[in-house]
Amino acid sequence: MKAFTYSRASSAADAAAQAARTPGAKFIAGGTNLLDLMKLEIEAPTHLIDVNKLALDKIEATPAGGLRIGALVRNTDLAADKRVRRDYAVLSRAIVAGASGQLRNKATTAGNLLQRTRCPYFYDTNQACNKRKPGSGCAAIGGFSRQLAVIGTSEACIATYPGDMAIAMRLLDAQVETVRPDGTTRAIPIAQFHRLPGDAPHLDNTLQAGELITAVTLPKPLGGKHFYHKVRDRASYAFALVSVAAVVQKDGTGRFALGGMAHKPWRVEAAEAALPKGAPAAMKIALAGATPTQDNAFKLPLAERTLAAVLSEARG
Ligand SMILES: Cc1cc2nc3c(=O)[nH]c(=O)nc-3n(C[C@H](O)[C@H](O)[C@H](O)COP(=O)(O)OP(=O)(O)OC[C@H]3O[C@@H](n4cnc5c(N)ncnc54)[C@H](O)[C@@H]3O)c2cc1C
Ligand code: SF4
Repeated sequence: MKAFTYSRASSAADAAAQAARTPGAKFIAGGTNLLDLMKLEIEAPTHLIDVNKLALDKIEATPAGGLRIGALVRNTDLAADKRVRRDYAVLSRAIVAGASGQLRNKATTAGNLLQRTRCPYFYDTNQACNKRKPGSGCAAIGGFSRQLAVIGTSEACIATYPGDMAIAMRLLDAQVETVRPDGTTRAIPIAQFHRLPGDAPHLDNTLQAGELITAVTLPKPLGGKHFYHKVRDRASYAFALVSVAAVVQKDGTGRFALGGMAHKPWRVEAAEAALPKGAPAAMKIALAGATPTQDNAFKLPLAERTLAAVLSEARG
């Protein structure tokens, strides 16, 4: 691990200001992703700004009838919150489908949203990787790509976004609240938060330099039945090959979003109108333009069958 300096932030604005004036600085929350990346020298921040003492660990009702989840709320606490389990069960289920109990006890809401890809070539510093080292190439293209993306890919990167929680948050139309180094705040719709790789795969999201996530807000509950089906190589402690987050209403209408398919949580609102016609009709729209490799073409029928299972369960 490369040497780095360390400080604690006294407020959210102070954290963002410290990040802006210290080149190479990064925030640290639970550390469950960042420290692994530092040990492998995939990330080498010169300075860590510890945000754990900031009072961003509350889950509060909003005037609009939704919930405001502090950036430091631990995954375990969010998944166990009574209001989340009752009104946003898809979120609770997505979180407990991820990682392990110990990791979820440490992992935070903001850190989870910002976890980096699990592309094996990103983790191997002997391999070319445009995400790790812009302009170096992409060893995954033409390499082993079973886990990687089937849609929204580019000639520079075919990695997936690996997380579970964000798939449910995309389904729920969450907003990511931030503070910037100049002290101004903004709310980013989650649809605009994670990026497709394009020609800049080193950028995972639309945060600006030094911008700190302070909270994630959920709109008022959708009702309906909530599902998070995750298909993976092992029953636990494994990232999704394919996952489906869905809310299905009594009349068969609903929403769905996919994990394991793209560089960001994949939701195509136009496909949801076809849900009452069944999974093949909805997936035909959701996955139009997919460009799978030979290794991962199986994800297309797998995603369709997973959605079909959800719809069948919804019908009881
Ligand atoms: C073995 C293993 C298995 C896993 N399996 C799964 C899985 O199946 N599903 C899944 O979804 N996840 C899985 N994870 C990932 C895990 O969910 C993440 O590591 C965790 O959520 C990251 O949260 P953290 O608070 O520890 O983030 P950190 O490691 O502290 O930070 C991650 C990133 O977020 C930035 N950051 C943190 N807080 C803020 C903030 N407030 N504002 C701006 N930037 C911030 C940091 O600078 C860093 O870049 C797994 C992890 C491990 C190690
Ligand atoms: S797919 Fe993306 S993350 Fe993986 S090697 Fe290529 S550029 Fe790197």
